[in-house]
Amino acid sequence: AKEAGRNTWRMYDKSMSDSLYRRAALEEKLKQAMAWREFELHYMPQIESGTGVIRGVEALVRWRDSDGQLIQPGDFIPLAEETGMIVTLGEWILRTACQAQVNWKQQLGRDVLMSVNISAVQLKARDFANTVRRIVWETGIDPAYLELEITESMLIESMDSVKPVLDRLREIGVQIALDDFGTGYSSLNYLRLLPITQLKIDKSFTNRLEEVEADRTIVESIIDLVHKLNLRVVAEGIETEAQYRILHELQCDFLQGYLFSRPVDEEGIQNLLRVGRLE
Ligand code: C2E
Ligand code: CA
Ligand code: CA
Ligand code: CA
Repeated sequence: AKEAGRNTWRMYDKSMSDSLYRRAALEEKLKQAMAWREFELHYMPQIESGTGVIRGVEALVRWRDSDGQLIQPGDFIPLAEETGMIVTLGEWILRTACQAQVNWKQQLGRDVLMSVNISAVQLKARDFANTVRRIVWETGIDPAYLELEITESMLIESMDSVKPVLDRLREIGVQIALDDFGTGYSSLNYLRLLPITQLKIDKSFTNRLEEVEADRTIVESIIDLVHKLNLRVVAEGIETEAQYRILHELQCDFLQGYLFSRPVDEEGIQNLLRVGRLE
């Protein structure tokens, strides 16, 4: 029994050090990627329900590693958050997105809403509101067309510290979207206490709208509630015509999903924006 115990311990130890090693290697690669500017932004259109007009885009980060392979955010954002690298990366993302918005305005003659995902680590870092203020000023973006997406999960345990930051961001004039709405523990409480301007219904609610009556009822109630609070609502993860039809009937303001477009690179989004609508 003692032998077995020791072996178990040794095996555990080995797999531990393997994963620590992999982690350290990835961390090193991530640092290099920052220095070598291997990150790029892709953009996913957000359309107006009924007209198909592209009112905005969500910026989604990708990592193009040295062999040209595209790495999705789920595979590096968590580590970037754990190591604090997300603060520098997030600043680059924000500045790049704002610059793109200003360029498109010059090319198209109209403002496109630019939505940028903000990690909890960024939001809680010192001076986040000042960083946003500085980037707005440096890029010249109209802050009314910059939207910061925060998720419910980041608010747990930190409502008290996050609220003043969000208040300051609203003073600067940027919009604030509550992302992945409905997946957290006290969604309604956040809606009540925080200066939110838009709400994004999570794709877990829109996925099965056609089949699941309860999902439809929940989504309908969320949309009604949001409208009564004078906020706007986006539904995410729209993949079928039937989902689109239902959400349009339920008077959802804006829609996002593969049905309209997958996230596309800078050239791709410029082509879509030039046309101006999707349907
Ligand atoms: P999210 O903010 O909820 O972003 C939406 C994700 O759902 C995107 O995945 C998008 O490609 C995907 N999606 C959108 N519509 C559909 C659809 O109709 N069907 C399906 N199956 N998927 C759809 P992506 O780009 O892999 O991003 C995953 C997550 O990584 C994001 O979730 C966000 O939490 C995080 N992320 C992405 N970019 C950034 C960033 O620049 N900064 C930070 N902090 N996080 C980011
Ligand atoms: Ca988002
Ligand atoms: Ca989301
Ligand atoms: Ca999400």
